Amino acid sequence: MSPLRFDEARSVVFARVREMLGDPQLETVSLDEAHGRVLGRDVRSDRDYPPFNRSARDGFAVIAADVAQVPAELELIGETRAGEPSLFALEPGQTVEIMTGAPGPRNADAVVMVEHSTRNGPRVTLHRSIASGRNLIMAGSETRRGQLVMSAGRRIGYAQTALLGTVGCAEVTVCRRPEIAILSTGDEVLPVDSQPEPYQIRNSNAHSLAAQISRRGGLPRILPVARDRLDETRELIEDGLRSDLLILSGGVSMGKHDLVEEVLSDLGAEIFFTKVRIQPGKPLVFGRVGGTPVFGLPGNPLSTMVTFEVVASVAVDLLGGATDSPLRFRGARLAAPFRHKPVLTRFIGAVLEGDYGDATVRPERGQGSGDVAAFARANCLMVASDAQASWDAGDWIEVMRL
Ligand code: AMP
Ligand code: MG
Repeated sequence: MSPLRFDEARSVVFARVREMLGDPQLETVSLDEAHGRVLGRDVRSDRDYPPFNRSARDGFAVIAADVAQVPAELELIGETRAGEPSLFALEPGQTVEIMTGAPGPRNADAVVMVEHSTRNGPRVTLHRSIASGRNLIMAGSETRRGQLVMSAGRRIGYAQTALLGTVGCAEVTVCRRPEIAILSTGDEVLPVDSQPEPYQIRNSNAHSLAAQISRRGGLPRILPVARDRLDETRELIEDGLRSDLLILSGGVSMGKHDLVEEVLSDLGAEIFFTKVRIQPGKPLVFGRVGGTPVFGLPGNPLSTMVTFEVVASVAVDLLGGATDSPLRFRGARLAAPFRHKPVLTRFIGAVLEGDYGDATVRPERGQGSGDVAAFARANCLMVASDAQASWDAGDWIEVMRL
């Protein structure tokens, strides 16, 4: 089997994890705790929205036909402020002064803005015609009572928080956070709080993965580092498989001491792919042991971060109850020419500068997939497609926010 493109690998993960999913487990949290979580049950509207004919302007509620010819002089019969019920019904030739957010009088079908009026005692002259429906949002025109307003499986961002608040969800039923076991491998890898010998390194991968997992709504569970020994690696993998998902870092290359694939196959794993055509991160194992999905990510820190973000994150989203797992791309102009051998899709730490309309992107110079310091200066991943070999300065290229 030839290695998959990254989007094909994502599709495989999506399909396989979905097959493995049981019913989502739910819990109830307050509205403010719900932000970033995945909605567990469909939410329906508790009433019509707007719940009354709501003025969108400060001005004068009218029957639009009365201001077909302007200037039009109307009889002012009262005032309604936001937070008050409407006590009025318009007869032809009448108007009510009205504030933004206030209910319109019966028979009104538009609001003329106060800027287009002149008051003279009990009469008002309006200088602008207006179409029926303008500036007066009719009851039920946005949402009907009982209508589905948010489906289970959608992630709750601030816009969804506004919606849930509007329909009165002080508490929200959300999906339980999936527990994701993280297992780093390697004889050279020590805990972050240790003082390594010159030939040893600290276990940054466990913590970058934990951060990426938390950001997606998962609960990371960091296991002790597995030495490059079969028995120890196997024991820790078995422990990790008790979580909803196991993510390994390191030990998936071709080295003599890269044991992850061997242990997984001893445990009866079904392996769906072992390579993805991306850089960093070409060796990338995805499979299942029984009902638990498992990833073996390459151990180089940038490879671990990029392969999680670009491929493994799909599993965290789905296990967390989400029905989709979009990557967020945007376009930017290259600050300098770029070329590569178009056999892989490259994800390159880069700096995106500028704003809407005129953003430019410049790859961050680094020493390769171990250069964490260079990567930490980046604010995006520039995506060099495997379908294109060279770009000129000023050409558009896609970037992914970090
Ligand atoms: P491996 O995939 O095991 O061959 O490791 C590739 C490179 O990544 C090696 O230079 C490792 O020292 C480094 N590495 C492996 N695991 C980690 C880790 N948990 N944290 C930081 N670097 C790691
Ligand atoms: Mg290793």
